[in-house]
Amino acid sequence: MHPLLARGLLALGLVLLGGLLGWWLGLVAWRPGAGALLGAVSGLLVFGIQDGLRAGRLLRWLRSAQLDMAPRDAGLWGELGYRIERSLREREQAALREGRRLAQFLSAIEASPNGVILLDRHDQIEWCSRVAADHFGLDPERDRLQRITNLVRAPAFVACLQAPASAEPLVMLGPDGQRSLSVLLRAYGEGQRLVLTQDITERERAEAMRRDFVANVSHEIRTPLTVLAGFVETMASLPLGHAERQRMLGLMAQQTNRMQALVADLLTLAQLEGSPRPVTDRWHGLAELLTQAEADGRALSGGRHHFELQCPRDGEIAGDRMELLSAVGNLVNNAVRYTPDGGRITLSLGWRDGGGVEIDVKDTGPGIAREHLSRLAERFYRVDGSRSRETGGTGLGLAIAKHVVQRHGGELVIDSEPGKGCCFRLVLPAARLKPRAAPGIAAAPPIGATG
Ligand code: ADP
Repeated sequence: MHPLLARGLLALGLVLLGGLLGWWLGLVAWRPGAGALLGAVSGLLVFGIQDGLRAGRLLRWLRSAQLDMAPRDAGLWGELGYRIERSLREREQAALREGRRLAQFLSAIEASPNGVILLDRHDQIEWCSRVAADHFGLDPERDRLQRITNLVRAPAFVACLQAPASAEPLVMLGPDGQRSLSVLLRAYGEGQRLVLTQDITERERAEAMRRDFVANVSHEIRTPLTVLAGFVETMASLPLGHAERQRMLGLMAQQTNRMQALVADLLTLAQLEGSPRPVTDRWHGLAELLTQAEADGRALSGGRHHFELQCPRDGEIAGDRMELLSAVGNLVNNAVRYTPDGGRITLSLGWRDGGGVEIDVKDTGPGIAREHLSRLAERFYRVDGSRSRETGGTGLGLAIAKHVVQRHGGELVIDSEPGKGCCFRLVLPAARLKPRAAPGIAAAPPIGATG
């Protein structure tokens, strides 16, 4: 039998029993008429006591902290307890569901690379994502309910909070003074505000680089153009003799060549930046590459330098031959241009322990002071601008070499000391290399030739 039905029957039995007992007592002690009255009163009394006990149980349960299961009673109180328990359970479940949804929503915000802070109507932090906390140097837990202006005191930020809403983001420095932040304020709800933060350091740096690059290119082109314009004007306005005319035409050709070289290097850089990484299934002989670069260097030198090629063990590299040749070529070109006549230029190929190779281009030129080395491969960075321009330099040779070697998974390493020459090294990774199957220059002794 169902426990509730059993309890109901028991309660009914008790009431009947109380009634019977009262009726019997009335019959025995008084008159027969009093028996019925006493029976009804005592039945009601038993019923009332039971009812009171049930109400007491329900009240105790409601007062207790653990509202899990209401007392299972028959009758009105039992029904009431059951209904209360059910509605409490439903509310609990709804709250759980809401909690889960909120947690999901917050973790989605946390996953964003941008920061979010929710401010109440008094500009106190209601919630702060970890990214925003990192941007402003806050602690998401400790700083909750703190006024944000007590924690982020940058005047520009405080002014932005106090100003009427603006659609333009505020650009400010982070608390470490190193990072650039973009901060946007948005109103929502009843006087609450949303602070959206974004780290734009890289974007700003790239933008500054782009501006510098455009300024540099304009400057590099304007100089030869000004010279050319001067010559054109002179030739147009003055009656020049044949010799003078020839001299000017020669100087004009020099400026034109300079611009052509600059445009060619700019196009090479643009092509390197805009094209996918070199393929890994086209193999080129390393010794052959170095021999070609050496031959080009000799031609440029015109016999003014001694050349040496050391390639004891050949190998093959997967990638773009023209790119690699232009990287080594630029290093050899520099060595020829900066090394005084009679100097030595050495090209060598060495294998590393892990299977990578080093292509070194060494010279016995003037060398470079240490402080310049880290910036040398930046576009248009020159140690000696006039020497570079005099010798037809564009300021882009090392930038191209660095770009090419990085596209092949390697790096450009520069070592030099003033007065001790330079060593420019292209380090290429084992992943793009394999030993040469057929003997190439490998078998030959180190080549030492004077140009
Ligand atoms: P540039 O066209 O001016 O030579 P690069 O990018 O090739 O431009 O080189 C950057 C600068 O590095 C040069 O201007 C020069 O000052 C220095 N440099 C490069 N190679 C050498 C070298 N072999 N010896 C001395 N200085 C060099």
